[in-house]
Amino acid sequence: MVAQVVVLEMSTNPDVADMQRIFHAQRNGFQAHPMPSLKDRLVLLQRLRTFLLQFKDDLIEAVSADFGHRSPDETLFAEIMTTLEAIKYHESHLAEWMRPQKRQVNPMHLPAKARVVYQPLGVVGIIVPWNYPIFLALGPLTAAIAAGNRVMIKMSGFTCATASVLSRLLAEVAPSDVLAVYAGRGEISEAFSRLPFDQLTFTGSTEVGKKIMTAAAEHLTPVLLELGGKSPAIIHDSFSVEMAAERIAFGKCWNAGQTCVAPDYVLCNHSRLQDFVRAMQKQVHAMYPTMRENADYTAIINEKQYGRLQNLLMDARKKGATIIEINPGNEDFSQGKKMPLTLVLGVTPEMLVMQQEIFGPVLPVFGVSSLDEAIAFVRHRPRPLALYYFDHHPSRIAFVAEQTHSGGLGINEVLSHVGIEDLPFGGIGASGMGRYHAREGFLTYSNAKAVLEKPKLYPLRFFLPPFNKGLHKFLKSYFIR
Ligand code: NAD
Repeated sequence: MVAQVVVLEMSTNPDVADMQRIFHAQRNGFQAHPMPSLKDRLVLLQRLRTFLLQFKDDLIEAVSADFGHRSPDETLFAEIMTTLEAIKYHESHLAEWMRPQKRQVNPMHLPAKARVVYQPLGVVGIIVPWNYPIFLALGPLTAAIAAGNRVMIKMSGFTCATASVLSRLLAEVAPSDVLAVYAGRGEISEAFSRLPFDQLTFTGSTEVGKKIMTAAAEHLTPVLLELGGKSPAIIHDSFSVEMAAERIAFGKCWNAGQTCVAPDYVLCNHSRLQDFVRAMQKQVHAMYPTMRENADYTAIINEKQYGRLQNLLMDARKKGATIIEINPGNEDFSQGKKMPLTLVLGVTPEMLVMQQEIFGPVLPVFGVSSLDEAIAFVRHRPRPLALYYFDHHPSRIAFVAEQTHSGGLGINEVLSHVGIEDLPFGGIGASGMGRYHAREGFLTYSNAKAVLEKPKLYPLRFFLPPFNKGLHKFLKSYFIR
């Protein structure tokens, strides 16, 4: 068989040249074995599970080293357990997904058999952000290898310790012409996104997402863009503020707010603003009596992000907002990179806190007069990755679902929908395009090839040119029906 030719101008940077070499090795390996069997794929998933469990403690330590401190329980729950659940889910559905699907044939094309076959795409590139470096590398990887692809991963330059453990882990799972991991910034990142992948999955910011799409356009590489944005939480007047605060505080403090689907701001009735603030204070006190030395509370990843978050607060204060720091232990946070949850009231659209994705423990709370006003507020802004609505009333819930666009909709919850493997995950508009998780992920990483098979019998012969009475009669009967 003649392999498809991919010509890359080899880089003079040895790291980039190595990446290009591995890309070629993966492409050639795929050409030689373009359709891994169900058994081959299940073996890979099984090995991934085994080595993930084996490297679990190293990973927890590495993520914490990258963050300055990451709660070990958060890493176990949100990264390792969720990945194991994803593997289990793929293992149990793969046989059914891989099966060719029978489709209907229109009567005029009979006799024939139509089906869709799901074929791996080839070499998939996965670009990973720093905030959940394990789950956002291994989650897409699970879907991509289940669909039969080879995978190259590019980790963030801010999570080099995690990248190094993942690299050892994946080397145990499969050789580098099947799975490979890189880490880095600048030239490495850009060169990675320019490789002529068969599919490129990017998780990261909207700004960088635009660059990725531009780079992928050169080879018409299809992209899955998992981006960020400002995910709102709307609390209906009839919903208990204590219950809403319990759930919102959890979602906003988890990973110190450094979560793509963390609630970015809250909309609740003017008359209940103070009650909501009190409920948030009570909830944060209950979850974190102290924060500085508390192993459960995660630090901000680096000085740059810490400085950006402090700047958001400074800007809001300068422009007239009220800043309410929830600091249960009354601790001094002037040293280190931990930052207590801070509510911001009296926010205006000119404040930076409403112009950027927050991505940290800062929560603007807006007063609104009605549900219609809250919906108009959301619709006026770029479509978010998640929208959270707190209400028990079925027709109002349906109304919010119909009147707003977001990648996902959480009713009386925050974050958890990401962990439901049977639900597709992704954004819309500025928060991304495409989906993974669930069967949608398998489809993202497969070529759903349409196949039509004709037997020896070929009635179309009677309709071939020169067009005759038989065809005219058939067309007439079709159009006068
Ligand atoms: P980022 O966009 O700065 O970087 C993401 C990745 O892209 C990193 O690996 C980085 O090295 C690489 N990169 C940066 N510039 C590049 C370029 N020019 N060419 C190629 N690659 C480049 O994002 P981040 O700061 O690592 O992560 C935070 C962002 O990610 C937030 O916006 C957050 O909402 C988003 N996010 C989204 C999801 C999701 O599933 N939708 C999940 C987690 C994080």
